[in-house]
Amino acid sequence: MNIPRKTQAAILVSQRLPLVVDEVDMPESLEVGHVLVKVHFSGICGSQLGEIDGVKGEDPFLPHLLGHEASGEVVEIGPGVSHVKPGDTVVMHWRKGLGIEAKPPAYNWRGKKLNAGCITTFNEYAIVSENRLTPIPKGSDMQVAALFGCAVTTGFGVILNNAKLKIGESIVVFGAGGVGLNIIQAAALVSAYPIIAVDRFASRLHLAQSIGATHLINTCEQEAGELIHRFTEGRGVDCFVDNTGNPKIISLGYQVTKSQGRVILVGVPPKGNDISFYSLPLHFGKEITGSHGGETEPHLDIPRYHLLFQKGRIKLKEFVTHVFALKEINQAIQSMRDGTAVGRCLIAME
Ligand SMILES: [Zn+2]
Repeated sequence: MNIPRKTQAAILVSQRLPLVVDEVDMPESLEVGHVLVKVHFSGICGSQLGEIDGVKGEDPFLPHLLGHEASGEVVEIGPGVSHVKPGDTVVMHWRKGLGIEAKPPAYNWRGKKLNAGCITTFNEYAIVSENRLTPIPKGSDMQVAALFGCAVTTGFGVILNNAKLKIGESIVVFGAGGVGLNIIQAAALVSAYPIIAVDRFASRLHLAQSIGATHLINTCEQEAGELIHRFTEGRGVDCFVDNTGNPKIISLGYQVTKSQGRVILVGVPPKGNDISFYSLPLHFGKEITGSHGGETEPHLDIPRYHLLFQKGRIKLKEFVTHVFALKEINQAIQSMRDGTAVGRCLIAME
């Protein structure tokens, strides 16, 4: 079988420390449902920042590989795989699509077991489960294709499946990173109004405006609650999406939504940071709910969204603002944290 013996990878060795970029030993063979993919571009998502920061608590799987949105090409398939074949151009995604859910691959690093999930993308070659891959046409823009693994599908899914936003409803999107920008774009596609983008970086707000935000709030200079009140002429907002995981912002969302409004949680608060609110409004139709990747069904959603992109109906190229090499991945992560990365940071594999 045509499996390289080693691959370069970024490894999470300890929480709250930079990733270690090093050579990793690949398994010798593919097992049932495994697919060997040559990764082209991987996105970095807030989830990986959360993993590094340990927002969900202690990590029992250290050391491990990470990453969950990418584009690539299928090199080899293991037994039982039927939905992709060698040579296919694919989107690598974390939500489950068609095919087998395989057991995690057995990588080694420095003579010891290196954990990995059903998908990892911060590695040049990755062995992933068949059901984490969706083929797209050959010749697709591979940078943009990576965004279909999480940012686009989550963003669009939040609007369609969680918020179920109607034409003319109002929305606040708090946090205009990779997912937030796509939520804003999807809100514009369904003609929501107003579409209020909130962020602490002016550069992100500028990008948000270019893809459909009608009102902007910069939390470094402005008071969000007051402005949301003004922008909705005192009526409150139909839908409030939080991408930050900050309990104070989630509480704000609960306050500024209409009595039948929806608060959608995309960001995850650090473990132990509980939210408290008066529950009575829930009895009268207010909703607060968590999104799981926009409840996306990759095999159904990616082809639809991809066609929209190909036909020029949605903007995605604009979101790819920075491309780093794998060895620069810690710089890429830093640029996301300090806001110098405006849209999505991609890692280009060799
Ligand atoms: Zn993600």
